[in-house]
Amino acid sequence: MAECVFCTIVRDTTNENIIYKDDKVIVIKDIKPQAKVHLLIIPIMCLKSLAYIGPGQIPIMGHLFVVAEEMARREGITNSGYRLAMNQGEDAGQQVAHLHLHLIGGQSLAAMG
Ligand code: 5GP
Repeated sequence: MAECVFCTIVRDTTNENIIYKDDKVIVIKDIKPQAKVHLLIIPIMCLKSLAYIGPGQIPIMGHLFVVAEEMARREGITNSGYRLAMNQGEDAGQQVAHLHLHLIGGQSLAAMG
């Protein structure tokens, strides 16, 4: 079975698309951005989706949000605003079975719903 695409990116320490990395997460630019800023905050540990988390994942889930705000601050969009989204399963359109948080902004998102 092929390794998941985000696991491949996580393992490639020379990957120039990784714009942030710490001991728990990486951040990359989405390959098909929905807005001027579209980043993906990805845990290094491959949790497939929200369906696989429990109380033991509270620290990593919190860390995703802390890093998201740090990335927003670096992009200069904290005050203008941004959206965080996480897709769970088929009906939400989850494409990659490796839990990740979308950070979307840099423009008005009102038209996107
Ligand atoms: P999902 O729908 O699973 O919540 O979001 C997956 C996101 O990953 C999509 O927005 C898609 O464009 C992005 N994506 C999929 N493959 C790659 C890739 O190889 N590189 C990058 N940077 N983004 C990817």
